[in-house]
Amino acid sequence: MAENAKVDANCLFCKIVSGQIPAAFVKKSDRVTAFNDITPQAPTHILLIPNQHFENMAAVAKNDPSLVGEIISMADEIAIENGLESYRTNINTGAGAGQSVFHAHLHLLGGRAFAWPPG
Ligand code: AMP
Ligand code: ZN
Repeated sequence: MAENAKVDANCLFCKIVSGQIPAAFVKKSDRVTAFNDITPQAPTHILLIPNQHFENMAAVAKNDPSLVGEIISMADEIAIENGLESYRTNINTGAGAGQSVFHAHLHLLGGRAFAWPPG
């Protein structure tokens, strides 16, 4: 990562990107990292995160819009590689919506039926 990369020394997902905390990596690019969620809510439950620290996906969109596209494209690649005919992607923004880690992430869920509306 570049020397001026945005990193939060106290952030769990920054520590996963840097290798300080282990994770089951699924795919990596120079800008995006995908790894299995530690508490899977579906047979496939993968988190995709920007390698740099942003508090939420809206901050990614405002600072680096093409990076949001890279994250969604990688999610679709992973879904295809996993043979998922359909899948759900989810972004929680803010504690009230269920965000518990304040480093932007996209949930990729698949392998079971999903209800709508979500809970
Ligand atoms: P959210 O609630 O949208 O902020 O999602 C955070 C996700 O991070 C949850 O689904 C957690 O299960 C997941 N998570 C927390 N710690 C880890 C970890 N060390 N490795 C992988 N996933 C994690
Ligand atoms: Zn971070």
